[in-house]
Amino acid sequence: PRSWLERLKAGLSRTSASIGDVFSRRKIDDELLEELEATLLMADCGVDATLTLLAELRRRWKHEKLETGDQLRAALAEGLTKLLTPLQQPLVLSEHKPYIIMLVGVNGAGKTTSIGKLANHFQQQGKSVLLAAGDTFRAAAREQLIEWGDRNNVSVIAQEGGDPAAVAFDAISAARARNIDVVMVDTAGRLPTQMHLMDEIAKVRRVVSKAEPSGPHEVLLVLDGNVGQNALAQLKAFDKAVGVTGLIVTKLDGTAKGGVIAAIARTHPKPLRFIGVGEGIEDLQPFVAMEYVDALLS
Ligand code: GDP
Repeated sequence: PRSWLERLKAGLSRTSASIGDVFSRRKIDDELLEELEATLLMADCGVDATLTLLAELRRRWKHEKLETGDQLRAALAEGLTKLLTPLQQPLVLSEHKPYIIMLVGVNGAGKTTSIGKLANHFQQQGKSVLLAAGDTFRAAAREQLIEWGDRNNVSVIAQEGGDPAAVAFDAISAARARNIDVVMVDTAGRLPTQMHLMDEIAKVRRVVSKAEPSGPHEVLLVLDGNVGQNALAQLKAFDKAVGVTGLIVTKLDGTAKGGVIAAIARTHPKPLRFIGVGEGIEDLQPFVAMEYVDALLS
């Protein structure tokens, strides 16, 4: 089986003209730089990040007399790493018990899967975990979470129908009673009613703060790496509504749009806690800027 890094590389280099290919052949000239610009845009780096990166490359090309594709690649790697390094802020649990993590994101982003992976991750650190099935609207979401809980041997507080905020409240009380280290509160990603998703999630957040005034300690937004620039719109909307403190970007094992992380870094930076690189329980990795850039440019 291929390592997660190999899968990340394979996914990120899936564009028809991958970024890595641009460097392989010729000397640097305007045409090559334009091709590189188009490739970065296709990889969803966004206009802002792409223009900034290219301006810096053009400057170095003139002033430092870069000549070969390899030199250009190294210069771009440097620029990208500088851009992405501020996002490299691993999630460190504070001493607070229970440490409360709210997970938010639209349906299909990989929220439930990420909760399962995180439960495993924290248990490997010797932490006890409890899950709150805060998406009470979709029976499938609740069942899927319970399944992940079973697989990890973790209790899930769930309620058929009912108020998501009440489920979160109950979960926090249960965690206190059982001396649990980490509570993860799942939330809805879409509502079957006319009610606004953001209002619903903001309400859960308020109730969590009532149950635990220092919490939530982390509000993790799960974004699908495949949706490209749309991820930015989601980030802005969720951040405005509930205050996002960290990100998980999923499905980077199968996407050619991995540049979206550069767009996030440039226009709406948030700590990127983990990246999802597969469907398995181990396929959640801390974000390391240099590793990521290497995969993106390979
Ligand atoms: P939710 O609706 O946000 O809870 O999304 P799910 O957790 O149900 O995930 C939706 C689909 O994406 C499922 O088929 C997952 O197996 C898949 N998925 C989630 N994360 C990843 C990832 O990092 N890589 C890949 N390849 N698939 C993923």
